[in-house]
Amino acid sequence: MVQVNSNYLKLKAGYLFPEISRRIKNFNSESLNVDLIRLGIGDVTEPLPLACREAMKLAIEEMGTEQGFKGYGPEQGYLWLRERISENDFLSRGCDISPEEIFVSDGSKCDSSNILDILGKENKIAVTDPVYPVYVDTNVMTGRTGKANEAGEYQGLSYIPINSENGFKAEIPKEKFDLIYLCFPNNPTGAVATKEQLSSWVEYANKNNALILFDAAYEAFIQDESIPHSIYEIKGAKECAIEFRSFSKNAGFTGTRCAFTVIPKSLKGKAGLEEVDLWSLWNRRQSTKFNGVSYIVQRGAEAVYSQEGQTQIRKLVDFYMDNAQIIKASLTSAGFEVFGATNAPYAWIKTPKNMSSWDFFDFLLKEANVVGTPGSGFGLAGEGYFRLSAFNSRKNVEQAMQRIVKL
Ligand SMILES: *Cc1c(COP(=O)(O)O)cnc(C)c1O
Repeated sequence: MVQVNSNYLKLKAGYLFPEISRRIKNFNSESLNVDLIRLGIGDVTEPLPLACREAMKLAIEEMGTEQGFKGYGPEQGYLWLRERISENDFLSRGCDISPEEIFVSDGSKCDSSNILDILGKENKIAVTDPVYPVYVDTNVMTGRTGKANEAGEYQGLSYIPINSENGFKAEIPKEKFDLIYLCFPNNPTGAVATKEQLSSWVEYANKNNALILFDAAYEAFIQDESIPHSIYEIKGAKECAIEFRSFSKNAGFTGTRCAFTVIPKSLKGKAGLEEVDLWSLWNRRQSTKFNGVSYIVQRGAEAVYSQEGQTQIRKLVDFYMDNAQIIKASLTSAGFEVFGATNAPYAWIKTPKNMSSWDFFDFLLKEANVVGTPGSGFGLAGEGYFRLSAFNSRKNVEQAMQRIVKL
């Protein structure tokens, strides 16, 4: 019989979202005709911007002509898209990122997982707690951790808490790590990193020859002008950081699929004593294992940077941020302690009366018929917290808030 990758068996059973579905199913089978409002999973709900749809329609028609037909495109993405990204997301913010340093892909989830392909197994790794579960699980799957303990923490991974005690700041470790995952604006807490905090991380990484994997999937939701959108706004970051970006949340591409990863050419790693640049390894990896994103979708992503596209995605982001504001204001007025929701589409709520995250989940489900996400599902430090997402219709958000406030 074939041997399997037994690292998969180390993964904790009952992963967050299946467990949520199980509880909803149980609840539904006990109670008839409840009108559940789901503010749980972080998926967008508003339709795709018109500019993107029009660009994709044109691209489809182009593909139907002899002159316009395209086969395999460049594995790194079409240069015209990489140029638009470089200009609009980086050069305009003073970040010297060239089109060649941008790799277009079908998602940040995949990129933040696949990046482990080019990194050694002996690296000492730190993640924040709570954390986007993908970072942890992909390290487990690739054999970079031991087993999970009772509390669910994996041997060989270090956890940096972000909670109300430290003001939702990922504090600079005293220890030396080789690889650090940071996500700001943060999923799930909605916390952001200031320029000073990011500068300290870049300084730490350069001093310790560490690599930061910076996930900026939510940068478009930043409202406070002093908060960096890219880690490359910090001097020295091109020597120590890879950045993941996605069109999923700002332009509603969760189902359309387009993202990009920035690997500066100045980034170095080690193979034994030899210095190697990470850009070449990732370029090699993508050329071998990836065949690029659909031409049609890349034209859709390009349209995000047109004038109409910019106006339309600004409207989308504003819409979700108004939802976030409604959630924050309603719950605060009802006496809840609410974090996040000002520069991110997530409200991170302290559960009342020291309820556990799952008890509060069951309570909201039964009493308000509202579904959220238990903070403990994102890590130990998430216990006692609860995430509500602003990705929903205005009507649903308002109704959910009315129900919760009434409790
Ligand atoms: C939604 C999200 C992404 C985007 O993933 P895609 O695969 O590009 O859709 C990346 N990181 C985090 C933390 C997210 O929540």
